[in-house]
Amino acid sequence: MEIEVLRIGQRLVRDDRVTTHVALVARAFGARKIYMNEVNPKIKNTLEQINNTWGSNFEISFIDNWMQLMKKRKKESAKIVHLTMYGENVNDVASSLEKENDLLIVVGAEKVPRQVYDLADYNVAIGNQPHSEVSALAVLLDRIMKGKQFSFSYENAEREIIPTKQGKDVVMNKTRD
Ligand code: SAM
Repeated sequence: MEIEVLRIGQRLVRDDRVTTHVALVARAFGARKIYMNEVNPKIKNTLEQINNTWGSNFEISFIDNWMQLMKKRKKESAKIVHLTMYGENVNDVASSLEKENDLLIVVGAEKVPRQVYDLADYNVAIGNQPHSEVSALAVLLDRIMKGKQFSFSYENAEREIIPTKQGKDVVMNKTRD
């Protein structure tokens, strides 16, 4: 399954930390790419450093026109999943989502325009209470990936964690430059 994430409409008061966390969750929970608009370019450096240290080829793309991107990905047969507390309960749509093979998951920040609801193939609620784009994305990706994302390991990782009951065990990958 190919999964991409689109983060739209960062709040006017800069919300770099939340946007960074959305990107970190996308990477760690199995998406291959995130698209963002109106963000601090430093976020790209942060994610590239994470890729260098911990591996993966997770991509970060800055875009100007998210509507154009949604339309393009739809034409390419991706299904658009919009995370919104007004949508259908994730418990009712998770089994359909698991069967898809190309998803663009849209998360908002401030008020999301009506066109997003209309363009989406699925408007999905992680419960019908307001919470956060970070938690909503994490829960949705986990429902789709069913925990498989937590067993990924990356050949290009500089460091790798050996899970341990107590303390920290980190190996340095000697084959990397
Ligand atoms: N008030 C905004 C609106 O009406 O669209 C929502 C702001 S909320 C802090 C930011 C984003 O978190 C939303 O756009 C949505 O993607 C996500 N979100 C928050 N609660 C959610 C829920 N219960 N289910 C799914 N997504 C949720």
